[in-house]
Amino acid sequence: MIIDLNKLLERHHIRKTECRKEMLAYFYKKKYAISFPELEKAMHLHDRTSVFRNLVYFEEMGFLHKLNDSEGIAKYALCEEKCFGHLHKDEHIHFTCTNCNNTFCLKEKKLPEIKLPKGFFMESFSIVAKGICLGCSSKK
Ligand SMILES: [Zn+2]
Ligand SMILES: [Zn+2]
Repeated sequence: MIIDLNKLLERHHIRKTECRKEMLAYFYKKKYAISFPELEKAMHLHDRTSVFRNLVYFEEMGFLHKLNDSEGIAKYALCEEKCFGHLHKDEHIHFTCTNCNNTFCLKEKKLPEIKLPKGFFMESFSIVAKGICLGCSSKK
């Protein structure tokens, strides 16, 4: 995906820093969800506190959403375009590959609607499927 990060940040009135630009570029380059340790390693030229703060900030701005992979490890992935600020609309299924351990957003696979019993109120709902991803299955 070719994307003008400067324009993207400007459009969202986000102050451009090298760290933020590099972080977003990394997310656009990788096609899977990224854990903090991986991001920290990739951004080793930057202070880890700012990397973490930017992660939280991007989540608040509707750029990234947090998810747990099939092992419960927290990862971040780029949001769907309609996400804005705290109003996340990432209602899709996630998929963890048991071969490469990467987790992918299946954005076109929407979460099914769940009818809760009376008196229950949902705050979050997620589905993580487990299996072999396209990259791994086509290598065989
Ligand atoms: Zn894989
Ligand atoms: Zn996702």
